[in-house]
Amino acid sequence: MDRPKLEVADIFRRYGGEYREKHGASMSAAERRAMSAIELCRTSALGGQIEQCDQCGHRCICYQSCRNRHCPKCQSLARAKWIEDRRHELLNCEYYHVVFTVPDKIAALAYQNKEVVYNILFQATAETVFV
Ligand SMILES: [Zn+2]
Repeated sequence: MDRPKLEVADIFRRYGGEYREKHGASMSAAERRAMSAIELCRTSALGGQIEQCDQCGHRCICYQSCRNRHCPKCQSLARAKWIEDRRHELLNCEYYHVVFTVPDKIAALAYQNKEVVYNILFQATAETVFV
């Protein structure tokens, strides 16, 4: 599979500093850690090793991965395994995808109070669907 021309890490490296200046105060520590990990993933900042082919002598530098659970590069294999594991849990019946949205003012509040607002949202949606 070819490498995408533009990756999340490229965007973070280019605009991450500016984003942090504008929104850093509202970012959680976990969000800042994930963003930094993705920016540094598979760069010289994390170290690496030189691998060489025994046959032709071709060398390549392989940088260490960040292993952050939010990194799209590191988690693509884990994601594929997770999806495959979930396929075994599916019931033999039709499924429906239902989307619930909230007004912008509540979305802004939810951004700062994720656990509380999501719990309220999930309880309200469950009551709506299962009544
Ligand atoms: Zn990574």
